[in-house]
Amino acid sequence: MTAPTLPILDNHMHLNPSGRCLDAVREFARAGGTHIVLVSLPPWSLGIEINAPEDYRQVFDKILKIARRAEEAEKVKVFVVLGVHPAELTKYYGRLGLPRAVEIMKGGLEIAREYVEKGLAVGLKSGRPHYEVEPKIWDASNDIMRHSFTLAKDAGCAVQLHTESATEEGLSEIAGVAREVGLPPGKVIKHFAPPMVKICEKYGIFPSVLAGEDAIEKALSEGTRFMMETDYIDDLKRPGSVLGPKTVPKRTKQLIPEWGEDVFWKIHKENPEKVYGIEINI
Ligand SMILES: [Zn+2]
Repeated sequence: MTAPTLPILDNHMHLNPSGRCLDAVREFARAGGTHIVLVSLPPWSLGIEINAPEDYRQVFDKILKIARRAEEAEKVKVFVVLGVHPAELTKYYGRLGLPRAVEIMKGGLEIAREYVEKGLAVGLKSGRPHYEVEPKIWDASNDIMRHSFTLAKDAGCAVQLHTESATEEGLSEIAGVAREVGLPPGKVIKHFAPPMVKICEKYGIFPSVLAGEDAIEKALSEGTRFMMETDYIDDLKRPGSVLGPKTVPKRTKQLIPEWGEDVFWKIHKENPEKVYGIEINI
C-alpha cells in the first residue's frame, strides 16, 4: 500500500484569460498543487463595466468558465469564491452616486449567494478598503461587508475578506460584526493575512496566510489553524508584484522535512473542509 498523497491547496488565486491563465495552473499542478480556491477578479480586470447588479453575472460566469477550463486542462480541483472587491466602491461612487453604488454591490453579493446556493461557488468575497478613505466610504464599505455576512449566514457559507492590514483591533471589530448578524467568525476568512494565527484564533477569524518569505514558518510556530495562499493576480503588466502560482506547493514541500506532513494535512485538507464545508480528496 502506498501512502496517500498530500493535497496542496492555494486558498486565494486569480486567473485571467488575458494573463497566463492555464499556464499558471500548469505551473501550480507541476509543482504539486492539487486544489485552487479561485477568487473573482474586480470586474474591470475582465473588461466588464458594472452599471447594475445583474452585470456581475458576466463576471461570475467568466470565473466559472475559467475554473472549468482549468480542471479540464490539469489534474486540479477548483473551488470558486464570488463577490465584490472593496475598491469597486471607490471606483463607482463618482459615476453612480454612493447610495446606488452600495446598492449595486450589495445586489452583486446577492447574486453571488445564488451561485453558492446552486453549488457553483463555495463562498462570498467582500471586505473594506486597505487604504485610507473618507469616512462616508468607510461606513458604506462596512455596510456592504455586513450585508455579505448576512448573506453568508443565510447560505451557510464562508466569506473571504479583503481588508486593511490585520490588527487585533480590526479583527475583533470584524468578528463582532459577524457575531451580530449570526455568522460564526470561523466562516470569516482574512485573506492576505500575516502569520497572526493565535490572534485570529482568539477572535475566531480564519487566517489565509500569504506564503511569502518565512510567513509559513512563523504561522506554524503559532499553530496549524490557517490556510495558505499566494493571491496570484495573473496580471502580465504587474510581473513579480505578487507570489507566483507554484509558491504554495513549493513552500509546503520545503517545510515538510522540518515540520512533518501531518501539519499540512490539517492546513490543506481539514481546515478548508471545515471552513467551506467541502471535501478535499485526490
Ligand atoms: Zn486577490
